[in-house]
Amino acid sequence: MIEPDTSRPCALSPEHEPTCPAAAVVAVEDRRQDVVWGCKPHAASALNAIEGARIAQVANWSAARRSRALPWNHRVDGLAR
Ligand SMILES: [Zn+2]
Repeated sequence: MIEPDTSRPCALSPEHEPTCPAAAVVAVEDRRQDVVWGCKPHAASALNAIEGARIAQVANWSAARRSRALPWNHRVDGLAR
């Protein structure tokens, strides 16, 4: 179980971008089960960029469901509840 930690900064910004100062609210897990927390926009782009990546955890499910930046409707993995 991964505990949400909204005090950490986003770690999903691309290497060519400056360090992202936004709070990390979404955990993205890749196929090696490495989990990286990031902000919503960067989590969404990571899900698109990384094959097999999925959302492992979010800090606030109701807020995440309201976010159209996340592809909830495209992932049928039982996590978007
Ligand atoms: Zn970010």
